[in-house]
Amino acid sequence: MSKRKPFVGGNWKMNLHGSEAQALASALNAGFAHAAQVDAAVFPAFPYLASVGAALAAGGHKIKLGAQDGYFQPNGAFTGEVSLSMLKDVGVKVLLTGHSERRHVLHECDELINRKTRAGLDAGLEVILCVGEKLEQREQGQTDAINAGQTALGLAGVKADQMSRVTIAYEPVWAIGTGKNATPADAQAAHVAIRRVLAGLYGDAIAQGVRIQYGGSVKPANAKELFSQPDIDGGLIGGASLKAEDFLGILNAAVK
Ligand code: PEP
Repeated sequence: MSKRKPFVGGNWKMNLHGSEAQALASALNAGFAHAAQVDAAVFPAFPYLASVGAALAAGGHKIKLGAQDGYFQPNGAFTGEVSLSMLKDVGVKVLLTGHSERRHVLHECDELINRKTRAGLDAGLEVILCVGEKLEQREQGQTDAINAGQTALGLAGVKADQMSRVTIAYEPVWAIGTGKNATPADAQAAHVAIRRVLAGLYGDAIAQGVRIQYGGSVKPANAKELFSQPDIDGGLIGGASLKAEDFLGILNAAVK
């Protein structure tokens, strides 16, 4: 079991329209009884950040409001983008960066991910930086090298005193939305390797404090075993975060 406070995020992606998103936030408020033991956040689509934020506030902010993306420039001619101060304005506390869909579907590179990560931290947000290998990279034995590269490039220029607001999400690309997940032992090994990279960058004391979530087809049925690994500090959840019962089951599985 991890010595850090577990952190479980629900990435709703491009799912759930307004009333569905609000209803899910309200159901999570009603059912989540372990805020003292587990940090929780949900990441709705941009148009519903304010309404979901209001629903979470009505439940006493036990669950934090997160954004799936945000641009690093403060304002200006960036059609379609949303600034971090705009996100903060509507109550966002946590920013996702480097999600595999942004890397591999929207073609974000490590440099852009790094700029967003640094800007999120400079804006005072918590940041969850996602890393993870593709299937062919795993098959070629490159898992740790890919994670190390994405972690170091994503964190370039991040100051040691900002690391308490950084979470890493290890999300093997082949496990996201596929129903396949890394075995607890494989995930634990990847997390240990990522923590070693953090120790190389920031020293052991800081590395030991950073939470590393696992993501990739986490369900209520497999969450407990994954979260019981010593270096798995909660999870980043996609599909199973869209149903209150499933996400609550996963949140409960993170209680030590
Ligand atoms: C994710 O979107 O980060 C994710 C892990 O998705 P899923 O849980 O559906 O695999």
